[in-house]
Amino acid sequence: MFKLHLVHFLLCIHFANGAPEGYLPIISCLEESNIPQDYPNTSNFSQDSLDYNLRLNFTPIAIAVPSTVPQVQAAVNCAAKLGIKVNPKSGGHSYAGHSVGGEDGHLVVDLKYFRETKVDSATNVATIGPGARLGNIALDLYAQGERAMAHGICPGVGIGGHVLHGGQGYSSHTYGLLLDFLVSAEVVLANGSVATASNTSNPDLFWALRGAGMSFGIVTSMEFRTIPAPPENILFYYPYLWNQTQAHAGWDAWQAYCGGETTPIIPPAMNVRWVIVDGDDGLLLFLLEGAFHGSIEDFDLSIAPLIDVLDEIGGFQGNVTGVVGWLDALLYANSNGLYSNWDNNQTLETPLNYTAHATFFAKSLMTRNLSPAGVDAWINRLYATGPTSPTGWYFIVAAQGGPTSYVPTVPADSTSYAHRHSIYEWQLVAQTNSPPFNDAGITWLNPFVSDIEAAESNLTLGMYYNYADPTLSKEEAHERYWLQHYGRLAEIKKSVDPDLVFLNPQTVGN
Ligand SMILES: Cc1cc2nc3c(=O)[nH]c(=O)nc-3n(C[C@H](O)[C@H](O)[C@H](O)COP(=O)(O)OP(=O)(O)OC[C@H]3O[C@@H](n4cnc5c(N)ncnc54)[C@H](O)[C@@H]3O)c2cc1C
Repeated sequence: MFKLHLVHFLLCIHFANGAPEGYLPIISCLEESNIPQDYPNTSNFSQDSLDYNLRLNFTPIAIAVPSTVPQVQAAVNCAAKLGIKVNPKSGGHSYAGHSVGGEDGHLVVDLKYFRETKVDSATNVATIGPGARLGNIALDLYAQGERAMAHGICPGVGIGGHVLHGGQGYSSHTYGLLLDFLVSAEVVLANGSVATASNTSNPDLFWALRGAGMSFGIVTSMEFRTIPAPPENILFYYPYLWNQTQAHAGWDAWQAYCGGETTPIIPPAMNVRWVIVDGDDGLLLFLLEGAFHGSIEDFDLSIAPLIDVLDEIGGFQGNVTGVVGWLDALLYANSNGLYSNWDNNQTLETPLNYTAHATFFAKSLMTRNLSPAGVDAWINRLYATGPTSPTGWYFIVAAQGGPTSYVPTVPADSTSYAHRHSIYEWQLVAQTNSPPFNDAGITWLNPFVSDIEAAESNLTLGMYYNYADPTLSKEEAHERYWLQHYGRLAEIKKSVDPDLVFLNPQTVGN
């Protein structure tokens, strides 16, 4: 008791100015339970409460930084007892600031010390902590028997949020989403207990975790199947500078190739996407890029049905193709200097206290081939407003699904991820170099979605939680992210977290 009074006294002296309102009881409870934490008004608190997206800025009531599962349990118990909402943070890359609450006043449980990757050499099953980042995981898997998994592209992304809501990247068309590699998870639940979730243990919880994990608990460890790292990888990059008519023709060719209308169509080994950015004089730059897991001869044959048509359209700026090993393929670079699209200086190794940030607003869409009216609406909007946007922007449309993809081979209802029927994952981003973000970028971006949907007979299209859009109402978010799976998710939430201990503005059950 004396110790507790002393703690209160010291905290009052040190943190009275500008500390989150009402923080003392939770800080004391964390102290009493010996849970390491970031104290308000310290540089650790400022750093760990920053989301990747600097457009958003939320102040947690406290930040627990546990390094053991009992500490995670005790942190959840403290928050539940005090009626404080809890959010797990793994890599902190949420587009909507959800791992720091998505609003002020939540307890953040920062899992940065849960970052080990260990491969069992007999089974090739990897046990990975949720705070591990994709680049470090790739290095560790490769070092332990040249193993690999399919996952997203940026090395700094944390595996916790990424896998629990999908996880798509340059190998997903061939090998699946990262969540398709997950075989079990250890979870701290709202009542402070620890559960194992797998197909045979708590299968409903396991179903829910694979698509909507943030709503159901704090995952503290995961087991994944792994595959041999693909030895031969072709990276490619074909840029086209197009006017509106060319872009329209290019989009038709792309849909025919990825959606199954040409012969031959995209093979399983091909992973391809468009990155679209502003060009000059009303032209836009369409970069066709991706990775092919196979020989250069097979790549040439496989890409030809698309490239031959695109080349006839014109505007070709000269391609780059490279044959690289697995780790270089992940970096989108090789030792001879093949470019990296995202960051020429990036490495797979990512430090514990990673500090990269961006300032942006993003929307996502999950679609099949657009109808002719939908293609018209999309390309018209792109050329009508792209060259005069109020902020910088880039759009990415990845062919993760479709007739030859691994993704739809997993039964659509076997996980809560709701988008296996989609062919394309769209990411539409308006950005500024640093805060403050110009909110005109939000009103500029929204009509891309509404125009496409209006042209598709007012279809309500799915959206991807890993590209969370905080401007969606909770009802809209539930429908868009989880589609036909939302009802079952809401039932499971009621049974494992009836008091909504795990809550952000868009969680299941909110
Ligand atoms: C630069 C960048 C590149 C990206 N590239 C890709 C890509 O190529 N492909 C792709 O699919 N996505 C990509 N994303 C999106 C990324 O997958 C999501 O932002 C993902 O949720 C980030 O996970 P995290 O652990 O880093 O984030 P966090 O912000 O820590 O978590 C995101 C969400 O998951 C919850 N969560 C985190 N950890 C846990 C846990 N242990 N238990 C339960 N819930 C948890 C959080 O509460 C939050 O709601 C990218 C994002 C960025 C910023």
